[in-house]
Amino acid sequence: MHSMLRKIWVIIMVGTLSGLGFYIYRNLRPSAARSLNVREWIRHPQDHQGWAIQAGTRCGQAPFLLPTDGFIGYLWDDSFKLGHRHQGIDFFAGTGVDQTPVIAAYAGYLTRLPGWRSSVIVRVPQDPFQPDHQIWVYYTHMADQVGNSFISPDFPPGTLEKNIEAGTLLGYQGNFSGDANNPVGVHLHFSIVKDDGQGNFLNELEIRNTLDPSPYLGLPLNAAKNDGSIIVCKEPIQN
Ligand SMILES: [Zn+2]
Repeated sequence: MHSMLRKIWVIIMVGTLSGLGFYIYRNLRPSAARSLNVREWIRHPQDHQGWAIQAGTRCGQAPFLLPTDGFIGYLWDDSFKLGHRHQGIDFFAGTGVDQTPVIAAYAGYLTRLPGWRSSVIVRVPQDPFQPDHQIWVYYTHMADQVGNSFISPDFPPGTLEKNIEAGTLLGYQGNFSGDANNPVGVHLHFSIVKDDGQGNFLNELEIRNTLDPSPYLGLPLNAAKNDGSIIVCKEPIQN
């Protein structure tokens, strides 16, 4: 009887562990593949020029311009660790800090809160896909690891609702993470943030407060739908 119980236990444990293992595998494998590509791109960008997209490009009929140069390393809803979901997309320059320009993907009203060293957010009164909704476009990591800002002097801390056009220079890619000892690889984190319905942006750190950027940029940027292939613009139009 005891050995029977033990067998049942073993079966339950094996089933649970393999289910968990499959869950981890399915959720982490594509972003693990992307991590390898990001590392390779950062080390040898010159060997992979076909991986790069260009700032100012409009992919097909997309309403937004691509906001910077580089390799699209991480996607919306990528998972770097269990339970974490990436709320935006990451463009890796393949250069040092303060070299690769970041431009506005879309026109709107730019705000930089007084404490923001590396970020700006642009209010778009009419979502091009849902004109009765307001959305916000967020750009970050535009500072070095100790927080020296690379944001354009046109947008000092405390800038409120400054009208900008698509293509306006916002700043340059950096590696600021908030922890000077652990900088990120040089990249732009870009996300589309929902409004709270009262004219304020929601907390960008929660994926449920963000939108899948795929249709806005005309690229397959949803991690759940991407098999790990390199993302480039198929029908580029240089503006
Ligand atoms: Zn990111």
